[in-house]
Amino acid sequence: MSTMPDASSYRLPDDVKALHYDLTIKTDLQGLKFQGYAIIHLLVSKETSTIAFNSSKCDIKGILLHLDDKIDILDWNMDQAMERVTVTLPSLLRVDDEPQLHVWYCGELTNATMGYFYSSYKDNDVEKHYTVTQFQPIAARQAFPCWDEPLLKAKFSLNMVSRSDTVNVSNMPMVSEGPVDLAGNEQLEKLFHKEDTKEWKITSFQTTPMMSTYIIAFGNGPFAYLESSYVSPLSGMRRPLRVYATPDIISQGKFVLETDARILCEFEKAFDIEYPLPKLDILAAANFRGAMENWGLIVTQSQHTLYDDTSANFDAKKEVAEIQCHELAHMWFGNITTMAWWDNLWLNEGFATFMGRTVILNRVFPEWNCYSAFYIKYTEEALELDAIPSSHPVQVPIVDPKEIFQIFDALSYGKAASVLYMLSSYIGEKKFLKGVSIYLKNHLYENSVAEDLWVGIKEATGINVSEIMQNWISKTGFPVLTITEEADGIRIRQDRFFSNGDVKEEDNQTIWQIPLNILTVGEDGCVHIDNETILKTREMVYKLDVKAFWKINAGATGFYRTHYTQDQLQRLEQEASRLESSALSVTDKLSLISDVLAISSAGMGQTSHALSLIEAMRNETNYLVWLSISNQLGQIRQVWWDQDQVYDDLQAFKRALFEPLVRKLGYEYPDGEDPDTIQLRTLAITQAADAESEEVTTKLMEWFKEYTSSNTEVIPPNLLKTTFRTAVRHGDSSEWETVKRIYLNNLNPAVQAAALAAVCAITDPQLQMMTIQFAMEEAKPTSTVQIFGYLGNNDAVGRNLVVYFKCRFEEIVDRFRGTLDIYYFITFVANLLNTEEDAQALEDFFVGKDTSDFNLSLTQALDGIRSRAAWLERSEEDVRSWLEKWRQTHQE
Ligand SMILES: [Zn+2]
Repeated sequence: MSTMPDASSYRLPDDVKALHYDLTIKTDLQGLKFQGYAIIHLLVSKETSTIAFNSSKCDIKGILLHLDDKIDILDWNMDQAMERVTVTLPSLLRVDDEPQLHVWYCGELTNATMGYFYSSYKDNDVEKHYTVTQFQPIAARQAFPCWDEPLLKAKFSLNMVSRSDTVNVSNMPMVSEGPVDLAGNEQLEKLFHKEDTKEWKITSFQTTPMMSTYIIAFGNGPFAYLESSYVSPLSGMRRPLRVYATPDIISQGKFVLETDARILCEFEKAFDIEYPLPKLDILAAANFRGAMENWGLIVTQSQHTLYDDTSANFDAKKEVAEIQCHELAHMWFGNITTMAWWDNLWLNEGFATFMGRTVILNRVFPEWNCYSAFYIKYTEEALELDAIPSSHPVQVPIVDPKEIFQIFDALSYGKAASVLYMLSSYIGEKKFLKGVSIYLKNHLYENSVAEDLWVGIKEATGINVSEIMQNWISKTGFPVLTITEEADGIRIRQDRFFSNGDVKEEDNQTIWQIPLNILTVGEDGCVHIDNETILKTREMVYKLDVKAFWKINAGATGFYRTHYTQDQLQRLEQEASRLESSALSVTDKLSLISDVLAISSAGMGQTSHALSLIEAMRNETNYLVWLSISNQLGQIRQVWWDQDQVYDDLQAFKRALFEPLVRKLGYEYPDGEDPDTIQLRTLAITQAADAESEEVTTKLMEWFKEYTSSNTEVIPPNLLKTTFRTAVRHGDSSEWETVKRIYLNNLNPAVQAAALAAVCAITDPQLQMMTIQFAMEEAKPTSTVQIFGYLGNNDAVGRNLVVYFKCRFEEIVDRFRGTLDIYYFITFVANLLNTEEDAQALEDFFVGKDTSDFNLSLTQALDGIRSRAAWLERSEEDVRSWLEKWRQTHQE
């Protein structure tokens, strides 16, 4: 008999749920604690003698039940593991009853980045605190007792009690603020007990619409704000927009206000639904992981919110806009219409990623080449993760809510977004948006499942998209199309793709419906794309003139790999290297490079083909194509980093590719330059520096010296990170100390981020250990995992990172269990491991340890190591001999 809990045992019973929360939260920034009093209006849908709700980490002081004129004092039972409180009632609750549950409690404010927590900043060298929340997915229960499931929407009226000289923010606009008056207010009496109320104030916020608990938010602190507004293109109504931050950095908030106003207008037009709340605030927090789409109060890490207009750091600016665009998509998709349960998380995240990185971002910043950039950032990453045996379907059953953390991965974001993009390209973006609008309008303030979206799109197009999307959403993996030529056409066959090349019959059962997007060039030289044909069977023959130019997956809108014959690959290589009037778009080129390398890593082709293709494209001028080349070379390096001769040859090959670009583009960033050139220059200098180019290193070292001696203007902001990193890599403890100080003291989040990356660019083992110590003891809690990320990419650290990780393992688990960070530690630590022995040693380390919080990332990491090991074994000789031949013809 199995004792495994089923899905329903983790869900709250459905006999009673909350309709309306009346919450009063008192925040004590000096004592770093909070107290709360919740009055919860309940709806009884089945007769019951118990009430169960979620609560965690709060110390409950008392529970009352008010029913009609009667007040009962209740006993409760706390189940810590299930994070659930069950109260037993003195008599049965009946269906027509309208009871209110009163719960008062207190909690600690810690610097964990979940629940209700604090962040710090320095005000004239005095450390001060402010608070902020992060509730997604299941941490609202750490701040107030609640029915903490996305389906259980309710209205919320929030009162915040705080010291008078601080500012309170929440989802809705403030309606009143004033001194605390205890007279006749039993809630406030409980919160103050006998304490003097003189120093305190109470802020009340407007009641919210029906919403899920995970997008509730509030914060308290010495915040300052900048304000602007936007006018709804649908109604003409003007809504205030504010950015909040600590006073020292608030001046950097202008860009986010301007950008969000433009993005909001585009979303309204795309969905034909007005932004639903009376205001929108963005709060910048230093100790915050990523960004969170709380309705009406987006909270983001400072570097994702603030941008110093005077600094002209292109990447920093772009990152702010990209992240805001994603979070703003959620104001509709996720917040108005919410997934019924976490198994449809992809619907939220995939959609926000697709809209935020392509459709809407492209309308606001058409010069950013958003669709091609999307391929590199999301599609490629998802193709990589989905090619290992331990991948999971986009829609994944979630039994225990604690499993949710593990699926905030490249599949829920990147794969989901990519398959939505594939669908949108197939039916046309306009119709896709129309369908989304129908879907949202059908489920305003409600919950939904994937099928509801397909219904909306079907209504807009007449196409049964559910059938097309089925296997992309519910099945693990994706296909590789193998193309062979016949006399009057091509034969196209689909099989599951594994990066380790080991696809067994039982793994290869899914038949996907694949939009083929076949590009052909007619006799007149015109490009024609067939975007109607779908491969619905294992294989098919497609008629075309095999002697003319053709390509599958034009525009790389499809989520699959393509495997061509060697002859066809050569034709593609020739076309890709043509600088003018190539039939291939930028995205075609970068997906071609990506496919060729992935196919060779799986043993279906030779890695040297990818190297030849890269060499053939050395005169390319497009930034994104070069970014893709850098990424592919990075992947080869990730496998060959500890093979000395190959590593040296690879570095020389990289120098030969990027130094000419540096010479052509120079080190200066003239005003008014186009984004492509700006980014290409930054990339070329960064890659050349990474490849130890002497001329570039010398220049950057000179800059760093001047920067630290007096002139902080000398380094172009776009090159700050590369310059800092180069200085540390070629320096000693003094450079390391310098960048560490910059990270700790500089007020510009982009400069801090550059310094943090540089702290990790060390080579000396003594400094490596000091960096780990710094990560664990001195850095902001959110920086710890970032440091492991950088170290996991540092060849000089290599396998040492595993040793450091093992030493600190207990501490890491203690501090980061129950956050997304724990997932990433494992991924980063495994990044440079490339042998079966590495995989075995890592696996052995975890034997007997509780890995329940990160078992998925552990399995994915082990699969990744084994894929690299197989690739190395298969292609060692091929890569070595190609590079040797290259070296002999290009002796430096
Ligand atoms: Zn999101």
